[in-house]
Amino acid sequence: MNWGAKVIRLTLYHNKEMIPSFNPEALSGFAGFIKTPKKIVITTHYKPDGDALGSSLGLKQYLESLGHQVKVVSPSEFPSFLAWMKGSREVIDFIRNPVQAKQAFAEAELVCCLDFNDPKRVEGMADVLMSSPAPKMLLDHHLDPKPFCDFMFSDSGIASTCELVYHLVNALGGSELLNQDAGECLYAGIMTDTGSFRFRSVTPETHRVVAALMEKGVRNDFVHEKIYDTFSESRLRFLGNSLLNHMVVLKEFNTVYFVATKEDMEHFKHESGDLEGIVNYGLSILGVKMAVLFSEREKIVKISFRSKGDFSVQSFAEKNFEGGGHKNASGGKSYLSLKDTVTKFVALLPQYKDQLSS
Ligand code: 5GP
Ligand code: MN
Repeated sequence: MNWGAKVIRLTLYHNKEMIPSFNPEALSGFAGFIKTPKKIVITTHYKPDGDALGSSLGLKQYLESLGHQVKVVSPSEFPSFLAWMKGSREVIDFIRNPVQAKQAFAEAELVCCLDFNDPKRVEGMADVLMSSPAPKMLLDHHLDPKPFCDFMFSDSGIASTCELVYHLVNALGGSELLNQDAGECLYAGIMTDTGSFRFRSVTPETHRVVAALMEKGVRNDFVHEKIYDTFSESRLRFLGNSLLNHMVVLKEFNTVYFVATKEDMEHFKHESGDLEGIVNYGLSILGVKMAVLFSEREKIVKISFRSKGDFSVQSFAEKNFEGGGHKNASGGKSYLSLKDTVTKFVALLPQYKDQLSS
């Protein structure tokens, strides 16, 4: 069967237990496609987080146990607190090793796109990804996936891509092939994308998946420590500085925002991933519905949005800041200066006052 020519767009419809039901025809087609050893590339979004890298490396280990040759290509570097994951050292960083990355895409017989919903999310690697002759498979949980893959496994009701990897492997009948190392990669993504199991997206099934992973030897304390207790001193001071000097509370709109300037990032020797988590502190103030972090990058301002309850930062980010993601966690960007971006943001709030007050 020529999967490259036949586009199968699949939205997964989970049942009430939140187990995604993979379309049997596509699933058996996919299973047939990976029956013989293939060269496979797994890729994920720019600046991979725990879910992006964990799902990629978890799936890699599973596919390798079936005899495939698998390379993970990342559009950029990943944070050092994920470097304990098995296989992380072999990840090809497109920015540092463009030739190797391009070669992997050119030679691939299958490309798996994990934890992103739009080719734009791989930034400068988009052309290389899209020009790969290989059929593409998407496995993702972001809202509004763009139809850019041949197999699309997408379910925005599931809390993390890692949880989807577990279900896909299970549906393919291979969950016994997942070992402790793969399990710890998957556990990391489930833990980080659910805010350590506190978001509304967590379901009983999330915990059943975690239970199954722990039965394979996954050490929850090990993963938690590797990710949350490996800060450098300057990272913690950067957080303190953000909370003390760069947090603005707009009570009228139940909104908190933070700014991270280039100077501060340089002063605190900021590393990739150091900003992660700052924005969530905004939501810990009583009554706050939306928290936002503006960080000054080379040419753009990167924006992280978080919300609680019914306020959708996905539609806010999509409408106003060329972004998207999930209802309660989204990203976006602005080409204005940091100051003008914040001014634009604050000026938008009155339109949302009712939604932010209810
Ligand atoms: P973060 O604020 O942690 O960068 O991103 C929050 C969520 O929104 C993540 O799931 C991320 O993948 C998604 N996201 C971040 N930036 C963008 C963007 O520019 N466009 C879209 N569609 N999603 C984004
Ligand atoms: Mn994710």
